[in-house]
Amino acid sequence: MHSFLGSPFWTPFKKLFFKPTPGCKHVFDDLSVKLVQEICPLGVDQAKWKPKLSWDDIETTQSKIDSLKLEEDLPRIKLSPKDFHSLLKGSANSEVSSRDRLQPPAQDTDIVLLDVRNYYESALGNFEGAVCPPIRNFKSLPNYLRKNLSLFSKKTLVTYCTGGIRCEKATAYIRDFIQPELQSKPDLEPINAVYMLEGGIHNYLEWFQASKSPEEECLFQGRNYIFDARQSTSLSDYSIHSTPTPEKQASKSCITKCGFCSAPAAHLYKCTSQHCHKLIVRCAPLNAQDAPVKPSNCYLSLPSCCLDCLNSVKTKTKKVGLCECELKRVQALETVQASS
Ligand SMILES: [Zn+2]
Ligand SMILES: [Zn+2]
Ligand SMILES: [Zn+2]
Repeated sequence: MHSFLGSPFWTPFKKLFFKPTPGCKHVFDDLSVKLVQEICPLGVDQAKWKPKLSWDDIETTQSKIDSLKLEEDLPRIKLSPKDFHSLLKGSANSEVSSRDRLQPPAQDTDIVLLDVRNYYESALGNFEGAVCPPIRNFKSLPNYLRKNLSLFSKKTLVTYCTGGIRCEKATAYIRDFIQPELQSKPDLEPINAVYMLEGGIHNYLEWFQASKSPEEECLFQGRNYIFDARQSTSLSDYSIHSTPTPEKQASKSCITKCGFCSAPAAHLYKCTSQHCHKLIVRCAPLNAQDAPVKPSNCYLSLPSCCLDCLNSVKTKTKKVGLCECELKRVQALETVQASS
């Protein structure tokens, strides 16, 4: 990473927020650079939506917050992991309340914590109490938000994602589409303010590992889903920065179970039913840490997301329509969530 950034070619990009984590050389055996129309597509017609500010205009300084308050109907504020932690803990003396002239929420119930990632990511790890939409891709988030407007009425919204990018987009969408909708409904009220976790879960875990004190509790439970061969990282992966993870954290480092034997597991495989590709949790092979991904016995015993898919695997037939578990997820997505 350091030699990579040492090249003069990358000089213009040095101010970008890089988030290195340890991993063996098999994780990235190639460098891939792609030109895309939109990073993490949100599915909104780009011809119809021009966000008012570019992403890197958002800063956390007070002067910037003041200027944002003038420029934006709904200020979006990046929180450092420390401020995010304090806000969730409801600490009266948090830096957020002293630094930020926007009124901090009076009670916990005024905060809605929103995980803007996909369901299989939030299932692997999340911040306790977060609203985790049952979406399979980021493009489904706008619909989910519009359907669940009442969740956000008069609330202070705090969002988080893997590394911070999706929050930038989701909160801009909320400002430009969800806030006006809330303002137009007589029975609903606008969102008070929007905060987002700067650098995402990655940054939070790194901060926690580097700065934790014995009495502090990591508010993230489980593992942080990532998009390379490692699949996910957890607090213990950041231990190069500090002392080893305490016992009480170890119990929180896995919140998922193998779908076959029910042992704590966080390894993801794809359902083998044709056209399903749903990610399923199964035990990992022994010594899987550095080995290439190979099927475990639990995966070989049940290589599908549910009995519907298992039947289509066994009979080698293509299933028609949604399988039983995918149908449940879609039904959950269509149901309006009750606001607290
Ligand atoms: Zn198992
Ligand atoms: Zn399946
Ligand atoms: Zn299924």
